[in-house]
Amino acid sequence: MRVGLPKEVVPGERRVALVPETVGRLGEGVEVVLEPGAGVAAGFADAAYTEAGAAVGDPWTADVVVKVAAPSAAEAAKLHEGQVVVAFLAPLVDREGVERLAAAGVHGLALESIPRITRAQPMDALSSQATVAGYKAALLAADRLPRFLPMLMTAAGTIPPAKVLVLGAGVAGLQAIATARRLGGVVSAFDVRPAVREQVESLGATFLDVGVQGEETEGGYARELTQEQQAAQQTELQARIPGFDVVITTAAIPGKPAPRLITADAVRAMRAGSVIVDLAAESGGNCELTRPGEEIVDGGVTIVGITNVPSTMPTHASQLLSRNMASILGLLVKDGALVLDWDDEIVAGACVTRKAVAA
Ligand code: NAD
Repeated sequence: MRVGLPKEVVPGERRVALVPETVGRLGEGVEVVLEPGAGVAAGFADAAYTEAGAAVGDPWTADVVVKVAAPSAAEAAKLHEGQVVVAFLAPLVDREGVERLAAAGVHGLALESIPRITRAQPMDALSSQATVAGYKAALLAADRLPRFLPMLMTAAGTIPPAKVLVLGAGVAGLQAIATARRLGGVVSAFDVRPAVREQVESLGATFLDVGVQGEETEGGYARELTQEQQAAQQTELQARIPGFDVVITTAAIPGKPAPRLITADAVRAMRAGSVIVDLAAESGGNCELTRPGEEIVDGGVTIVGITNVPSTMPTHASQLLSRNMASILGLLVKDGALVLDWDDEIVAGACVTRKAVAA
């Protein structure tokens, strides 16, 4: 089975879907062909891949093409019938991209659609990348904050620790909590899923009860709140937020715009010098004033709306993603050949082009 590894073309995307370490471990009968320079932006030279057994060439003729971002129209034109593409295909928002692959007869396996069952945990790229984003969000907040995060006792007097609030405590939020705690901040967190309280507390943070409780889907995701619940959450947060120096927001509902948690009025009630890092910027932002892709200062409050945060730490983000990819490739290869087992709930669940054809 030949696996093609193209260079990413989306501006600012520095990750790569396979790193040399994994190439050497894909097993008998799996050959990797990479586009020249595919891993350079993530810190992996072509020579490291060839030493691991890969060849430099045209990745688009391979049986399976592995990517980070969904193929652009120009990239999709290089694909042929029967090929498999594994990438973040954004099936719930990029219908056109999925239909393009379906029309070309390509089997698109979306990393977002891999069922979150125990057997699929090593393939969970949403989690691996959210881990990177949550960690980086805490670092960004610490960097933009004009004060210390930890408590300091110095000859010049005592500095109290900064207060950090994390909204949305899924994979990214829990990592942000852990990182902010390690940096010495006093951390509180809120999530609509009640099951999260215990996880927040086990990390040494305080669960902030804003009096709103949502429901959890079978897949473990939050359901969208009703309009009344959303309004109640905004009002309660507006009253609580001025007490924090940092707010990191990670709240998301798959396939929907990010829930609005922080209104413009709530930002204006914050102290000058406070920082909001909005990890939901890509899907519109949890804060009303977030500008996706930008960092702004409004009334002295810094609002960081950087998108594609995992790409700012491309080496480890790629390494984790690459291990996810290797697990997925392991499902697709039998005796060195590509075999799509549609009875496997992971393969069937991840394949979004079959659904597009059926729809
Ligand atoms: P996500 O990125 O979709 O959302 C982030 C968080 O935002 C979630 O915790 C969600 O509850 C929360 N949220 C949504 N609306 C909110 C609101 N209005 N206010 C506050 N918070 C809000 O979620 P995720 O990080 O991908 O994880 C979701 C769940 O899936 C978690 O329970 C996680 O532990 C679980 N999970 C399971 C597996 C597995 O079993 N293989 C793997 C990874 C994650």
